Amino acid sequence: MHALSLRNLTKTYNNGFQALKGIDLDVEAGDFFALLGPNGAGKSSAIGIISSLVNPTSGSVSVFGHDLKRERDKAKSCIGLVPQEVNFNQFDTVKAIVFNQAGYYGMPRKLALQRTEICLKQMDLWDKRDSISRRLSGGMKRRVMIARAMVHDPKLLILDEPTAGVDIEIRRAMWKLMKEVNEQGTTIILTTHYLEEAESLCRNIAIIDQGRIVENTDMASLLARL
Ligand code: ADP
Ligand code: ADP
Repeated sequence: MHALSLRNLTKTYNNGFQALKGIDLDVEAGDFFALLGPNGAGKSSAIGIISSLVNPTSGSVSVFGHDLKRERDKAKSCIGLVPQEVNFNQFDTVKAIVFNQAGYYGMPRKLALQRTEICLKQMDLWDKRDSISRRLSGGMKRRVMIARAMVHDPKLLILDEPTAGVDIEIRRAMWKLMKEVNEQGTTIILTTHYLEEAESLCRNIAIIDQGRIVENTDMASLLARL
C-alpha cells in the first residue's frame, strides 16, 4: 500500500507560471521520505496540492488509496500538515492550540482531550501545556505545530521545512522526536534544505528541480554516489 501516489501532477498558476510539470511519485507506507530541491523548485506547490490547499491543474493524488478528488474527506483525514510558518494564534495556550484543532475534525471532547495529551507528551510539551504560545522558544513553537498536526492521528505527516532557522542542538532534538513518530508507524514526508537532515532521518528521497523530479532513489544509493 502506498501512503502517497502522484500521477502526472501539474500546476500552472494564474500568471501562466508552470510550477509542476508532470510529477510521478510513490511513497511507501511507513517510509520516512525526503523531498529536496532548491528554492522555487515546486516543493511547496506539491505539498499544497497534496494537503488540499491548492488545486492541481491536472493529474492525480492518492493518499492511502483514497483519490483526493473523489474521496477528498477520507484522503484529508489521513494527512497531518506542518506548514513552514508558525500560523497558530500566539495568544492561545499550547493545550488550546492542539485541542481546538481536534474540534475541526469533529472529535468528541473526551477523545480530543486524550489525543491532545498524547500528542503534547509525544512532542515533550506536556509541561508547557498552560503556557501562552507567544512566550515559547522557536523550537517549542515548531513542536506545537507538529503536535497540532498529529491530533487526529494521521497516517501521513507532511513536514515542510520543520527545522528551518532553529539552531543545531534544537534541530537534533527534533530529529529524535520525528524519528520516534515514524517508528510508531506514521509515514513522514519531509522537505528540507539540509541534506544532513535528510541523511540522518530519511530512507528514500526525491529531488525536484524546476517542476520536475530529477532523482528518486533510496538515501544509501544517493550518498554512495556523492
Ligand atoms: P491560483 O493560480 O492557484 O489561483 P493565484 O495565481 O491566484 O493562484 O495566486 C494565489 C496566491 O499566491 C495569491 O495570493 C498570490 O499573491 C500568491 N502568489 C502569486 N505569485 C506568487 C509567487 N511567485 N510565489 C508565491 N506566491 C505567489
Ligand atoms: P519551493 O517550495 O520548492 O520553493 P514553490 O512551490 O513555492 O517552490 O514555488 C515554485 C515556483 O512557483 C516558484 O517560482 C514560485 O515563485 C512560483 N509560485 C508559487 N506560488 C505561486 C502563485 N500562487 N502564483 C504564481 N507563481 C507561484
